[in-house]
Amino acid sequence: MIYEIIEYMTKIYKSGNYSCLKVIIMDVFENVKKQVDEITELMGLSKEEANVLLSPKRIVQTSFPVRLDSGKVRRFNGYRVQFNDARGPTKGGIRFHPNVDLSEIKSLGFWMAIKCAVVNIPYGGAKGGVEVNPKELSSTELEKLSRGYIRSMHEILGPEIDIPAPDVYTNSQIMAWMLDEYEKIKGVHAPAMITAKPISLGGSKARDIATGLGGVFVMDQAVKKFVSDKKKKEITIAVQGFGNVGSFFSLYANKEGYNIVAVSDSHGGLYEPNGIDPIKVIACKEAGKDVESCHSDKNQRSNSIKKISNAELLELDVDILVPAALENQITKANSEKIKAKIIIELANGPITPEADAILHKKGIEVIPDILANAGGVATSYFEWVQNKQGYYWEEEEVISKLKKIMDSSFFEVLKSKEEYKTDMRKGAQALAIKKILEAEKLRGNV
Ligand code: NAD
Repeated sequence: MIYEIIEYMTKIYKSGNYSCLKVIIMDVFENVKKQVDEITELMGLSKEEANVLLSPKRIVQTSFPVRLDSGKVRRFNGYRVQFNDARGPTKGGIRFHPNVDLSEIKSLGFWMAIKCAVVNIPYGGAKGGVEVNPKELSSTELEKLSRGYIRSMHEILGPEIDIPAPDVYTNSQIMAWMLDEYEKIKGVHAPAMITAKPISLGGSKARDIATGLGGVFVMDQAVKKFVSDKKKKEITIAVQGFGNVGSFFSLYANKEGYNIVAVSDSHGGLYEPNGIDPIKVIACKEAGKDVESCHSDKNQRSNSIKKISNAELLELDVDILVPAALENQITKANSEKIKAKIIIELANGPITPEADAILHKKGIEVIPDILANAGGVATSYFEWVQNKQGYYWEEEEVISKLKKIMDSSFFEVLKSKEEYKTDMRKGAQALAIKKILEAEKLRGNV
């Protein structure tokens, strides 16, 4: 057997088609299986129940043509995995990225089903993607790609079936093209078939701030529960990543009275123990600068402000650390050096499983991504509700509904953590799995 594998890998190596090697080397869905094994053991579930959780409902893989500006036609691989729909139509983003493959899309679809169940919105989970480097495409080509994806997938999408949204390298403009293509094919207006659209096409107010603001609501409850002896202005926070999520999180945490002492982007960060004003960093970023170079901005300058690297930011002696950039930032290599008391995972998967175990042993409370960053999908749900009823809410209404969802989800996760005598991550996973299995049982599938 081993010789066959070596022979196969040699063939692939000679052919130059390395994407096949990626499938052999890292099937990310194997990690999902391991995590489900652990949690099913904790919950005392049967093999049959675990099997239902791990079986994707529908996998669609297509290869569709796009005529490039050069006049040549290129085919792209597209995927959509509707992982579980026991609790409602499936929901999840579409990513455009060169590393997209079926195993990754399947895993992300599974985690969407879990996330929607954690915050108790009536959706299952899905994910989609196209294997493409969008930076190599012109705007016209990107539009054709987005429309091509919908032409190849429209039969399995729809407001009552499966509702996409943006993900890595897709945005509200791409959602607008996708909506338009879907409506042209079906001959109807169907704004509820996709979310995070521009407001003028039926998008929701507050969708842009929802993930960051939802993170602040969850942090507020975590602080009350785990750091009760300090006033908000004494609580120090370091935020890694100053994009959509990190910047709105910093802005609203600061408005709530917390002390943001460090922020960063991919180039580096700033540290000011007396507090950074996120509004000034946002203005500086909008002027085209990196966070680090906002150091010399005359509005920011203070005696104690200094530049720090992303590695230093993660290891600062702060109360709360907020990874809001990329996955795998806290690993076995740096987890022993983390000093924060609470970590709010706003990015997806910023802590590796090995690091998670180390942080747990150190007594650091981790508020997991499937709870902390679910404000985005919760507000996508509000957008879908508004589209279906054709009646649109003011920003205050959206925000007050978001707060209700985030607060009640925090307490449900806490209860589950206490019931299973475990951490917040496994508490959240167990809560979601219970809800999914309950729906599967009622349908007679287990
Ligand atoms: P974004 O592209 O707007 O911002 C990402 C930020 O991270 C940028 O400031 C970038 O400079 C910074 N960054 C990149 N590499 C970095 C590095 N090595 N160190 C430090 N900073 C780095 O993305 P976003 O929408 O803010 O998403 C951030 C994370 O939140 C992602 O993991 C995403 O999956 C997750 N998330 C986003 C939403 C949403 O509604 N946007 C919802 C749920 C989860």
